[in-house]
Amino acid sequence: MKRSLHNFLLLFTLGLLNACTSTGPAGGLFQSASPHEQYELALTDAKLNRTALGRDWVTAGQRALRDSFRISVPYRESGYFGANRPFAIGYRINGQRGDKFLVRVEVQGQQEALVFIDVFALDEQDQPDRTVSAKADTNVLTWEVRRTRTHLIRIQPELLRSGRYTISITREPVLSFPVKGLDSRNISSYFGVPRDGGRRRHEGVDIFAPRGTPALAGANGIISRVGVNQLGGNVVFLSDNDRGQNLYYAHLDRWTVRDGQRVSVGDTVGFVGNTGNAQTTAPHLHFGIYTFGEGAVDPLPYIRRGLGPARQTPLAPSRLGDSVRINATRAVVRLAPNGDSPVVHELPRSSALTLLGGTTEWLRVELPDGRMGYVANSLVESAGKSLRRVSLPAPADLRDAADSRAAIIRELPGNTVVEVLAVAGGFQLVRLAGGLTGWVARI
Ligand SMILES: [Zn+2]
Repeated sequence: MKRSLHNFLLLFTLGLLNACTSTGPAGGLFQSASPHEQYELALTDAKLNRTALGRDWVTAGQRALRDSFRISVPYRESGYFGANRPFAIGYRINGQRGDKFLVRVEVQGQQEALVFIDVFALDEQDQPDRTVSAKADTNVLTWEVRRTRTHLIRIQPELLRSGRYTISITREPVLSFPVKGLDSRNISSYFGVPRDGGRRRHEGVDIFAPRGTPALAGANGIISRVGVNQLGGNVVFLSDNDRGQNLYYAHLDRWTVRDGQRVSVGDTVGFVGNTGNAQTTAPHLHFGIYTFGEGAVDPLPYIRRGLGPARQTPLAPSRLGDSVRINATRAVVRLAPNGDSPVVHELPRSSALTLLGGTTEWLRVELPDGRMGYVANSLVESAGKSLRRVSLPAPADLRDAADSRAAIIRELPGNTVVEVLAVAGGFQLVRLAGGLTGWVARI
């Protein structure tokens, strides 16, 4: 069966790379299959979905959608996936309309590994709806959020590959900032605040700048209107057709573009002033976004500063896969890598864990029963050093997992001397004199 899996992987990979996969943005009735879906279909066609490994791969992908970790961006963590066990991970992030996210997965392994990156938007019932997917032969995905939703990023390598990975997720604005030399720290009045004694709401943001500062095209597009109105004074509308919206520039001292003119990001469309109802105010640009269909939306996510690279330091690759244990009286395992996130398990001292990844502050760990979560690095220590040395009072089975149904590695006679390394439920992780480790029922 291994051989047929290998043949399958080779054929599938070649097919996928030749197919010039479409990546979305998906949505609608006729959305094309993502590389991940194509891979799953090919597994089924080859009847490999009936093998344990094929089935585990499908299950791992589904589980990552359900048991995903909530993180805040920018984010970075490293980890390891092994060829013998299908792996997938899901992260939840808040996506606001106007955000642009960049996901990058770097893999170091003996062989090239295809990595599937899929993004889902969660609906009101928390059901994932695939939004966009990375091309099959790239480990990078950039996408713009069109609807404010919780988004789920799933990362899953193909079968039978192993490697160390680093995942980084960063956020950038969709539009370039509309005033030369400034950024979102210079915004002094926000969307939605009351105006005219509460009779209307502010339909944009105000950016104060010296008179004559260039106002810049935030996107490529076409000038749809130039003119004068009572509130806005000298105004320019720039049609950002790709996103189905108009960018609105008001209180300009003067404009430098004409109707129908094509502009590129960064082109000057006019100069900051205080025309219209801003005559008694210092010069500023009123910048708004009017979507085709939904009217004014908050421009802030579209232009707020990017967050730069992630601050987390990924875990040293040499520690991945290590056995560790809790070194405190009690420790909690959390759903996400921060101290405010929900507690999913509580563990007593010496509890065994396997390091799957994480950062130097928060470790992503797997419990012996397969559950996962994050634990603070300060609460664990290596399980390499013996806790105590004991002599087995009776014969015992050395098993390969902390489970009475797990395979028996060796039958140990009574009086065998073992070193206890960690505990899990009714089992102890022990090491024999020759270095062999395994689990025995608690002595
Ligand atoms: Zn304004």
